[in-house]
Amino acid sequence: NNSFDEECDYLFKAVLIGDSAVGKSNLLSRFAKDEFCLDSKPTIGVEFAYRSIRVGDKIIKAQIWDTAGQERRLVVCDITRRPTFESLQKWLKELREFGSPEMVVVLVGNKSDLAQSREVNLEDGQRLAQLEQVSFMETSAKENLNVEEAFLQMINRIYEITC
Ligand code: GDP
Ligand code: MG
Repeated sequence: NNSFDEECDYLFKAVLIGDSAVGKSNLLSRFAKDEFCLDSKPTIGVEFAYRSIRVGDKIIKAQIWDTAGQERRLVVCDITRRPTFESLQKWLKELREFGSPEMVVVLVGNKSDLAQSREVNLEDGQRLAQLEQVSFMETSAKENLNVEEAFLQMINRIYEITC
């Protein structure tokens, strides 16, 4: 049950950012509703979803925005399109300029199911993450690979820092 007034100990807000069509909306719908859409329309306006998770003995409600916002955290690229990976650096630079110093950022290389069209190696992502001192994961919203892990990694790190 993820209803709005469900009891929770903390409310975390997080945002997905990245170039268009890298899979942000589908990562969110996979995590929040276990849904995937092969021909999803570009996001218009603001969409968000809730999901409550347990960390230790606490219930944390994650409110995740599928748009640009003030607290930006899950930065997504499409491993089959190199330019979306190059954009990660631009997104990170913007985050560092406008974000708070204790901001948690997780880099995500989405569409790992499309291995045959890969233009970004796992090592590229890992190297950038190490350089920027953030974590990196490859996901597939389609095959539901690592989606849960990427969101939980982010939520757990926010928990460590703020609680
Ligand atoms: P957004 O613009 O970043 O929100 O991207 P969307 O979530 O709308 O996804 C853009 C397109 O990529 C859609 O056609 C999705 O079905 C597709 N897509 C999203 N995630 C994946 C994935 O993990 N694997 C594959 N093969 N396609 C995906
Ligand atoms: Mg979208």
